[in-house]
Amino acid sequence: MQLPINIDSVKGFLHPDEGKALYDYALECSQSKAIMEIGSYCGKSSVYLGTAAQLNKSTLFAVDHHRGSEEHQFGEEYHDPDVYDNDVQMIDTFKAFRWAMKEARLEDTVVPVVAPSKVAAKHWHTPLGMLFIDGGHSMQAALDDYRCWAPQIAIGGVLAIHDLFPNPEEGGQAPITIWRMALASGLFEEIEVVGTLGFARRIA
Ligand code: SAH
Ligand code: MG
Repeated sequence: MQLPINIDSVKGFLHPDEGKALYDYALECSQSKAIMEIGSYCGKSSVYLGTAAQLNKSTLFAVDHHRGSEEHQFGEEYHDPDVYDNDVQMIDTFKAFRWAMKEARLEDTVVPVVAPSKVAAKHWHTPLGMLFIDGGHSMQAALDDYRCWAPQIAIGGVLAIHDLFPNPEEGGQAPITIWRMALASGLFEEIEVVGTLGFARRIA
């Protein structure tokens, strides 16, 4: 895997092993279909997914309202003043995201969708080769992401969900809840878990 940018220059929340796994699945899954991520932040995961999609001349749709999740807000644990827009007193990661996509020469491949996940899903009908869910971590946000987007994955396509913490003391339980729902649905079969990143294949 060769990335077009020093990945450490892109802020984000992804272990390099998880990034490599995203890249590998995206390389397989973007051969004949578009791929999608929910939750881009400053574009770290988008670089891995987009670089793979670019090799297949495919498209990565990158959905994020760029206003941050609960934990990114002012005063919260993962707040970063660098991505806080003082004029509007809100998080704005879109500027950093655009910078990263330009630096990585991925603007011919990555289509930013700057909207809440639920709004973006409303008229979506294009079957996806891969879906990466890494958006809001409230139970409502995670359920919305799963319900809105998982049905869009083509049979044979891959569902990836980040921040799986089997031990509740290590992290929030919303992502692993939708992971378990996916596996229990009979529509998805587990492939593997890399770090806190689960991969499952749509089988029905
Ligand atoms: N994938 C990123 C990290 C994503 S952090 C990386 O590799 O570093 C989670 C992101 O989800 C934040 O940028 C936040 O703005 C976005 N988000 C949270 N809830 C959302 C929602 N309902 N719709 C769209 N984006 C959302
Ligand atoms: Mg995450």
